[in-house]
Amino acid sequence: MIRPRTRAAALLLCACLPLLAACAPEPAPSPAQETPAPEPTTEPSAAPDEPEEPAFDRQAHSIDDPASIWVVSNKLRPLSPADFAPADLSMPEGVENEFSQPLREPAARAVESLVAAAAAEGLTVRIISAYRDYATQVGLYDGYVARDGQAAADTYSARPGHSEHQTGLAVDFDDHGACYLASCFGETPAGAWLAENAAEHGFVLRYPEGKQEITGFMPEPWHFRYVGTELAQEMRATGVTTLEEFFGLPAAPGYAE
Ligand SMILES: [Zn+2]
Repeated sequence: MIRPRTRAAALLLCACLPLLAACAPEPAPSPAQETPAPEPTTEPSAAPDEPEEPAFDRQAHSIDDPASIWVVSNKLRPLSPADFAPADLSMPEGVENEFSQPLREPAARAVESLVAAAAAEGLTVRIISAYRDYATQVGLYDGYVARDGQAAADTYSARPGHSEHQTGLAVDFDDHGACYLASCFGETPAGAWLAENAAEHGFVLRYPEGKQEITGFMPEPWHFRYVGTELAQEMRATGVTTLEEFFGLPAAPGYAE
């Protein structure tokens, strides 16, 4: 009576073999996995199963040096010296430039790639304004004050020594449309595309909606500031839209005096 039982058991075993193989517990660890000493890691603080990106270094560049691509210029942070002039001005090539104003070298190259990317999407983007030196800002600001009074001029024009355009890192764009330096530029296809894609090329929209009390300026959907791709993309990834907030600086709604 043993044989039938054995055969049945053997048949059962055969039928189950594929299942057993599929459901089998993990094979015995290989000798390599049994090695007690862990692999030495170069970053002992990082959790082994969470290879995190290194934290963003907020001190990689100065925010005070006017020659730094991260310089933060606002109504409480005048450029120092006030008549700072960058040393690496360069004319963007292949970009329409209303007043033929240069930018600092890395910003000029970045504008070229940004405008080319816009063109690839069928969008025309040109430069209205880029680098303006101290003397030019004196003339502009004094003219606005004479026309509108200082209080009004201060809401839309930086005082000399406080303008991002003097850093050679700021640029105003236009699309040859009806929203030249106007708030509606943000709703144009070109303006919306720039807001969405500028970070890929190292630019941030410097004076966004709803941040006037922080930046000190009304929304300017045409004004972009070069900060490099690392910072621009970090700000986009973290959802922080102003340099003041990103670097933990005081809000700068107005001038100190
Ligand atoms: Zn501007």
